[in-house]
Amino acid sequence: MQQGSINVQTENIFPIIKKFLYSDHEIFLRELVSNAVDATQKLKTLSGLGELKANIENLKVEVILDKEKKQLIIRDNGIGMTSDEVDKYINQIAFSGAEEFVQKYKDADAKNSIIGHFGLGFYSAFMVAEQVEIISKSQKPNSTPVKWTCDGSPNYTMEETKKKIKGTDIILHIAEDSAEFLEESRISTILNKYCKFLPVPIKFGTNERTEKERDSEGNVVEGGKEEKIVEDNIVNNTDPAWTKTPSGLSDEDYKSFYRELYPMTFEEPLFHIHLNVDFPFNLTGILYFPKLKNNLELQKNKISLYSNQVFITDNVENIVPEFLTLLHGVIDSPDIPLNVSRSYLQEDAAVKKISSHITKKVADKLNSMFKNDREDFEKKWEDIKVFIEFGMLTDEKFYDKASKFYLFKSVDGKFYTIEEYKAKIEANQTDKNEKTVVLYAQDEKEQYSFIQTATDREYDVVILNTPISSHLISKLEQKEDKLSFARVDADTIDKLIQKDEEIPSKLSDEEKEKLKPIIEEAVEKEKFTVQFENMSENDRPIIITQSEFMRRMKEQQMSGGGNMFGGALPEMYNMVVNTNHALVSELVNQNDEKQKDTIGQLVDLALLSQNMLKGEAMSNFIKRSVELMKS
Ligand code: ADP
Repeated sequence: MQQGSINVQTENIFPIIKKFLYSDHEIFLRELVSNAVDATQKLKTLSGLGELKANIENLKVEVILDKEKKQLIIRDNGIGMTSDEVDKYINQIAFSGAEEFVQKYKDADAKNSIIGHFGLGFYSAFMVAEQVEIISKSQKPNSTPVKWTCDGSPNYTMEETKKKIKGTDIILHIAEDSAEFLEESRISTILNKYCKFLPVPIKFGTNERTEKERDSEGNVVEGGKEEKIVEDNIVNNTDPAWTKTPSGLSDEDYKSFYRELYPMTFEEPLFHIHLNVDFPFNLTGILYFPKLKNNLELQKNKISLYSNQVFITDNVENIVPEFLTLLHGVIDSPDIPLNVSRSYLQEDAAVKKISSHITKKVADKLNSMFKNDREDFEKKWEDIKVFIEFGMLTDEKFYDKASKFYLFKSVDGKFYTIEEYKAKIEANQTDKNEKTVVLYAQDEKEQYSFIQTATDREYDVVILNTPISSHLISKLEQKEDKLSFARVDADTIDKLIQKDEEIPSKLSDEEKEKLKPIIEEAVEKEKFTVQFENMSENDRPIIITQSEFMRRMKEQQMSGGGNMFGGALPEMYNMVVNTNHALVSELVNQNDEKQKDTIGQLVDLALLSQNMLKGEAMSNFIKRSVELMKS
C-alpha cells in the first residue's frame, strides 16, 4: 500500500473548497460525470487511432445512489487509470489545479464572478463527501486495478484492488451536512440540469433497484440477488439537435428539440437559426425566435450556455449582446472561458468574436427571410419587431443591417421599408423646413380621431407601438437626417406638417383675448395651456394635443432611458381652440351662462375623445348634456 501526502501548500484545502463554493455544491456531480464522459471519449479516440484494443460498443456512465450506505457512485467504462496515472493526475496535477483555483478566488466573490467554477474538477467531490474512493482499472493491457482513498485531509492511501470491469468508479461517502445528495429527486434534478445533453448515455439508478449486489469494487457478487438497474433509465439525449448538421434536420426536428428544451412552454417558436462554426472559434447552437410579448424583462435569459454538451449556465449576459438574450435556445462553445469573472468576459477576444458572429448570423437570417419571402416576413413582423427595435437601438452593426428590413406598418395594413416609406411620403409630407414628417400612432383606437384627421388630408400614418418605440424613433431621427417623427396628436395637423400656406382666422385678436380667460377658467390650469389655432372649419372646435418632445421624454423616462431634466416630468397638454369652427364664432356672442355651458361641453368632448374625462368631471358632463337636450 502506498501512503502519501497530497502535493499541496495549504494545510487543509477542503474547508476552503467548501467555503468558496458553498452556494454551488451541486456542481460536483457535473464535474464527476463530465470526467467520466471524458474517460469514455478518450477511449473512443484511442481505439479509433488503433492505440488501444477495447470494446467501445457500450460506453456509458452510471450514477448509482445507495442511500443505505450513504454512497453516491459515478461509474464509467472508459479509459480508466493505472496507479501511476492516479498519482500523476489526482495526487499531483489535479490538486495543484484546485490549489490554484482557491488561491485565485480567495478574495473574489466566487459565487458571482465565476461561471460554474469550472476547472476544480475531481476535487469538488469533497464539497459533499467526507471520504472519496477511486477504484479504477485501466484499459491498457495487463494493468492492475488501483484503489485510492482520501478522507478530506491531504493524506491519501493507494493500494492494489480487485476490479474486473475496465473503467473507473468514483465512490462518494456523502457527508452528514450534505444528506440532500442522497435524495433521488435531488440527484435527478441535477442530472437533468447539467447532463441532459451529454454525448454518452448516463444512467441513473438507486440501490433499491440494484438488487444484484456488487462489491465495493463494482463487481457482481457471486450468488447475489437479481440486477434491476433497468436499461431505459437513461437521463440524457446523447445527440441533441444542435450537434447535428442542419441539412439533416427538418423543421419538425427543430420544433421538437424546442419542446425538449422548454417542456413547460406551449407556444411554438417562429423560426430558428442553427449556428455551426469551427474556425476561427468553435461554436454550435440553435437560437429560436419566440413570439415576444411587450414585457421585455420577463423574457430574457432563456438561452443556455453549454461547453461540449455540458450545461454551464442559463445566464448568457456579457457573452451575447443584450438584445439577443430575448432569444431562446442553446449555445455550445468550448472557447468561452469559464473560469474568469463575468465582467472580464466581455473583454475576452474569443467572446467578442463569438458575440459579433452571432449578431451577424441573426441579422443575416432576418435579411434572408425578408428577401426570400417578404409576405411571410410581414406576417411575423408583429412578433419580432420588438426584438429588431431592441437590436437597432443597442447594436450599431445590427442597426446597419436591420435598417434595410425594418418595416413601418401603415394604418391601412401595408408594410414599407424605411427607404420605401420615405419615397412614399416625401412629396406630400415634407414640411417647409425640408423635413419629411412620419406621422405615427401608438394606439389606433385611442388616437382614432387624430388618425382620421391626418388621413382625410391624404397623409399616411404608421403604427409604432412597442415599449421602446419612442427610443427607436429618436434613433431613426438621428440616423436618417431628413426624417422627423410626430405622433398624430402632438399638434394640430397643420402644425405637424407645416406648409407655407396659412389659413386665415375668423376670430379677431380682441375676440381671442376675450375668450381665452373664460376657457382657461373651464380647464385644469396645471395641466392645460389654452391656445388658438387657425384650423379647417371642418376640424373639431377644441382638441387636446401633447407636445411630441415632452411626451417622448416622458416615455423614455418611463422605459428607463432617462431624460435631461432629472426628476419626473409633469403631464402637460395643449387645449387647442379652432378659430375657424362655427361654434367657436358663435361663442363670442352668447350670454354668460350659455357661453359657460358651451365651453364646458366643448372642453369635455375634447377630454372625452382623449379618454381623459373621468370621475366627477364625467358625471357633470352627463348632467349638463341631459340639461342641454331639454332646452
Ligand atoms: P480536469 O478534468 O479538469 O483535467 P480533474 O481534477 O477533474 O481535472 O481530473 C484530473 C484528471 O484525472 C483528468 O484530466 C483525468 O486524466 C483523470 N480522471 C479524472 N476522472 C477520471 C475518470 N473517471 N476516468 C479516467 N480518468 C479520470
